[in-house]
Amino acid sequence: MNSRKEYLKLYRDTNRNELNEKFRVYYQENKENIIKKVAEYKKNNKDKIKEYNNQNYHCDICKCDMNYSFKSRHFKTQKHINNMP
Ligand SMILES: [Zn+2]
Repeated sequence: MNSRKEYLKLYRDTNRNELNEKFRVYYQENKENIIKKVAEYKKNNKDKIKEYNNQNYHCDICKCDMNYSFKSRHFKTQKHINNMP
């Protein structure tokens, strides 16, 4: 094992389902708190988030440009899925 980072990645990969389940339960139990915290973070970091979202992202698979706020939506588009190798 080379580094802690690699170890964590491996750990996450091998325990993905379990971790997802743990997070799901945690989320259900702390839903209101999490939503409140996210909303607060968004409010306090409006400019930072805006700046981040306005960065350009280039999709190497579709060879197209978009901004960061569209990135996750783009990954779910039929065009992107069809272009996937
Ligand atoms: Zn794409």
